[in-house]
Amino acid sequence: MKYFILFGPPGAGKGTQATSMVEKYSLRHISTGELLRKEIAEGTELGLKAKSLIDAGALVPDEIVEGMIESVFNTEKDVAGFLLDGFPRTTAQAEALDMILAKSGDEVTSVVSIMIPDEMIKERIRHRAAIEGRADDANDTTIENRIRTYHDKTEPLVEYYKGKGKYNEIDGTGTIEDVRTKIFTLMDKF
Ligand code: AMP
Repeated sequence: MKYFILFGPPGAGKGTQATSMVEKYSLRHISTGELLRKEIAEGTELGLKAKSLIDAGALVPDEIVEGMIESVFNTEKDVAGFLLDGFPRTTAQAEALDMILAKSGDEVTSVVSIMIPDEMIKERIRHRAAIEGRADDANDTTIENRIRTYHDKTEPLVEYYKGKGKYNEIDGTGTIEDVRTKIFTLMDKF
């Protein structure tokens, strides 16, 4: 089983690229953000808990997303692997992921990191807000907080995965097609 991590700041194009990646490599796409938005739409207890944090541009507690990921791993066995999008986002989540995978003798296959400069993040999120209508894309304070949260809590994972020799960075500033080609060239190696 292969476990790819799709990494990068908000607005880097992870969701856009994920669609073609899962299709080409027969992976199951797991976006913790999408799973959380589904819980909110369904009005579940978990959704209610997550909503105020997401609206503030903060992270939901590690245990919540770790539980979501593990339950998808346990229920979806008929795939070549998984594409984790938006998870892990903290060092604690990365360590939990390593422990979950170790139970079945597995490990992270590779991290595909799509990088864009900070000034492009806001531009991309504004563009997406007009298309997808996400509440957390529409508020400037929320966007600022998400960018700060990314730098403070998520960016340290670059060093975490570099240390394990699993980190691969792709320039995300080009067109969707350019970035896709670079991603496929990288993933073909695994
Ligand atoms: P995303 O769709 O990946 O941009 O996620 C939207 C929001 O959901 C984030 O800003 C967080 O509030 C929350 N979220 C998604 N994934 C995680 C995660 N792995 N850990 C904590 N919070 C998350």
